[in-house]
Amino acid sequence: MGRRLGQHFLFQRDLLERIAGAACGEASPRVIEIGPGPGGLTAALRPRVSELILIELDPVLAAALRSRYENDPGVRIVEADVLTTDLSQWGPTVVCGNLPYYITSPIVDHTLALGPLLERAVFLVQREVAARLAASPGSRDFGYLSACVQAQCRVERLFLVKPAAFRPPPKVDSAVVRLTPLPIPLTPDLPAFRRFLSACFRQKRKTLRNNLGGLLSREQLDALPEASLRAEQLSVAELAALHGRLRPLTPSE
Ligand code: SAM
Repeated sequence: MGRRLGQHFLFQRDLLERIAGAACGEASPRVIEIGPGPGGLTAALRPRVSELILIELDPVLAAALRSRYENDPGVRIVEADVLTTDLSQWGPTVVCGNLPYYITSPIVDHTLALGPLLERAVFLVQREVAARLAASPGSRDFGYLSACVQAQCRVERLFLVKPAAFRPPPKVDSAVVRLTPLPIPLTPDLPAFRRFLSACFRQKRKTLRNNLGGLLSREQLDALPEASLRAEQLSVAELAALHGRLRPLTPSE
């Protein structure tokens, strides 16, 4: 399977301890690790949690993990594609992983779909993706992904990891991010807000007047104080408030 599955393994002990510490800072009885691979991060997580669920797609790696943890009732190995695994089946959980970069965004989406069951997520991702996840409004990296995630979570970029820390080394720098769910999401209807954001950021350099042309009439756009702004100039809270105001006008958005 190899590189097709984004297999770049991390064995540097100090980094693995820092990632596990960031995931399990406070009491975390349950952690789901996505893509445990040869189990470096798994070993750092294990002493910190009472229940560890490992989701690994590669059958050879999953078999090795099964034999390593066969006498440990606190570790469950799920040989499956994480994107088709129902993460809610185990109840409230932390989610952690050195992610396969080819499916980072779908994994972040899939994790956030846990809603109130998500305690926190700590992911090692490509540096540019970490920048987009954590970006502030108005900055170059702020866009659809930033707004979607920040409507639900506080995002911290914790530290960088250079390619030399991995075997084999990836071509890009990496960074660890921590997503901590907000007590209440900024919008009551996240799927509808995501659809709205997708329209707002359709062409990032264009104004909302341009991007929302398909959703609102000309009169409605004329009455919109924000019409001449670009979506990236609004905070996530302002975008959520705008969505709340426009929803009655755009029932089929
Ligand atoms: N956690 C290990 C480490 O840090 O050394 C491995 C990380 S490696 C970047 C990504 C891992 O995710 C690989 O073991 C790969 O087989 C696994 N993987 C790739 N696609 C997957 C999927 N759709 N579902 C579950 N695991 C997947």
